Amino acid sequence: MSETGSGHHNGAYFTIDLHVHTNRGSADSNLATRDLIERARAIQIGAVCVTEHDTVWDLKEIAPLAAEAGVTCIRGMEVTTELGHVGVFGLNEYVGGIYKLAGLRKAVDACGGIMIANHPFRYKLDPRFAFINENHEPIDVEHPERAAQLEIIRMCDAIEVLNAACSEEENQFALKVARSLGLAEVAGSDSHSANSIGIVTTLFAEPIRTERELIDAIRAKQCRAGRGLLNGAVAPFEIAS
Ligand SMILES: [Zn+2]
Ligand SMILES: [Zn+2]
Repeated sequence: MSETGSGHHNGAYFTIDLHVHTNRGSADSNLATRDLIERARAIQIGAVCVTEHDTVWDLKEIAPLAAEAGVTCIRGMEVTTELGHVGVFGLNEYVGGIYKLAGLRKAVDACGGIMIANHPFRYKLDPRFAFINENHEPIDVEHPERAAQLEIIRMCDAIEVLNAACSEEENQFALKVARSLGLAEVAGSDSHSANSIGIVTTLFAEPIRTERELIDAIRAKQCRAGRGLLNGAVAPFEIAS
């Protein structure tokens, strides 16, 4: 394994970017697989996840490339459901019926996987976009315990409380909702190009090498959201006072 590859601890933490799209599986991405692996190696992130829209990588395709660069690359999927995007680990392929949240829950339970409510409040706090909310009302930021009752939150195992493509207000609110329920807190850059990989990361105390280890750690809530990897000062994401 290369000395400059991934698999490092960054200070007290093992860092993973849980949410990255490449141009191989996501039509809206500019990121080539080789560039993803190169960038992951350069920033010395612990591991990086490829999570394409509604499709999963064949591990045989990506594993040799990652191994050659000494980078730990874990595979997931971002599933489009009728109630929003859900990050999934554990499924080996896209299966019919998972566009419905209940169908997705069933499929994920059958494989012992995990579901993450990705960027659950993107645009949803803005009154101008109230029409995208289930009840066509803007979400009241003073009441995270109400948002905690939304079906997409209740059906998931974890919340992406820090997404680099969300506003600070949306991320802060997601964190408050996760805290109100005691749900696992994760972070993902939602990168579609190389330079934003690792801008936010999920922090673990122990190294994670495989999809199964990742699932187990998130299920055990042995993780939290963080940022600062790219400027050498990884810190947990906390509720602003
Ligand atoms: Zn998404
Ligand atoms: Zn995404």
